[in-house]
Amino acid sequence: MLQSVLSNLCVILLSHLIISQLVSNREKFGQLTLRYLILLMTSFTVISMFYLPIQIGEYIFDLRLIPLIMLALFSGWSNTVIVLLAASAWRYFIIGGTGAIPGVLFGMVLPTIFTLIYAHYLTNNGKPWDKIILVTICWAISDIPLIFILPDGFSVMKQIFVMRYFSFLGAAILYYVLIELENKQVGMKTQLRFLATHDQLTGLLNKQECIRLAEMKMKSEQKNSSHFIAMIDLDHFKKLNDSYGHAAGDQALIQMAKIFKSVVNDRTLAARYGGEEFIMYFCAGSEKEAMDELSAMHNRIRHTLFQVKEDEAISVTVSIGIAQWPNDSSIQYAIKEADRKLYLAKEQGRDQIVY
Ligand code: GH3
Ligand code: MG
Ligand code: MG
Repeated sequence: MLQSVLSNLCVILLSHLIISQLVSNREKFGQLTLRYLILLMTSFTVISMFYLPIQIGEYIFDLRLIPLIMLALFSGWSNTVIVLLAASAWRYFIIGGTGAIPGVLFGMVLPTIFTLIYAHYLTNNGKPWDKIILVTICWAISDIPLIFILPDGFSVMKQIFVMRYFSFLGAAILYYVLIELENKQVGMKTQLRFLATHDQLTGLLNKQECIRLAEMKMKSEQKNSSHFIAMIDLDHFKKLNDSYGHAAGDQALIQMAKIFKSVVNDRTLAARYGGEEFIMYFCAGSEKEAMDELSAMHNRIRHTLFQVKEDEAISVTVSIGIAQWPNDSSIQYAIKEADRKLYLAKEQGRDQIVY
């Protein structure tokens, strides 16, 4: 019997290990592939437990409900219903037998639906006790009907209660804690990755990430596209800081970054290069197309008022240098060229684009 409990736990742990590996390598799969792999893995876990029965006297049970409860708690209706249907069909059509209908109904469907309703209404104030109560109710839905279904139901219940309830609760707690830890780790990894690739003040990409992505885009785009690098520098920004304070300067940088973000699409990147300088990458069908996009953005900046005090908003201008990035050159070459043109724009009186 103990071997069977342990083998049920091993299946749960193995399944968790595989799913967490899938989740941590999720960039390698599409979102949809990842979803189907997780559903397949969970269905496989539930079904494999049908073949690992835990026997107490004449009574047989397993922990099939635990993955279903966890899926319902963490993953919502649509995913849970798919796994529930797959596992129920397997239990009814492939395994069959007299216990098939109560096994499907009380052993899987009703407790899982109860968990879905619970997850929908109650998890926001999730205290540990709530989950223990939930698991206890699921156990009750699954096991109490035995008292009425079996001829000597009450004595069977007395015989199996301790082993059944505590293995059920123990496995549920173990699985729940593992998933919570995994979710925290995934959250931390995502946060760390964001911090390593973005500028903290403006939320734009940082220089290194922009260069990495631009080089990737350059390689993947068709040969007849043209690539451009623009360097953008705020004019007389020191004066703005001196007149209104650094906090107002920061707000102006944030507001400027919002304008850059609004023009970003799958062929454009914008990043903070450092200080009050920004870099943009354009992939365009022609030189004119890139210039038109940049001019439209420049005009938008000209017509924007930047809030520097509660009751005062001012205009901020930028100087822009833009250079073509030839297919056979490094991005550093294009940055240098764009920078050179930016200085020309400054020399020629600022608030302009030099190509
Ligand atoms: P120019 O038109 O020639 O570019 O003049 P400028 O004053 O913009 O250029 P300068 O290089 O003399 O000064 C840039 C200023 O940008 C100096 C620095 O205090 C300010 N700055 C750089 N990073 C930040 C930041 O994160 N926040 C704020 N508030 N200011 C910053
Ligand atoms: Mg500067
Ligand atoms: Mg400047």
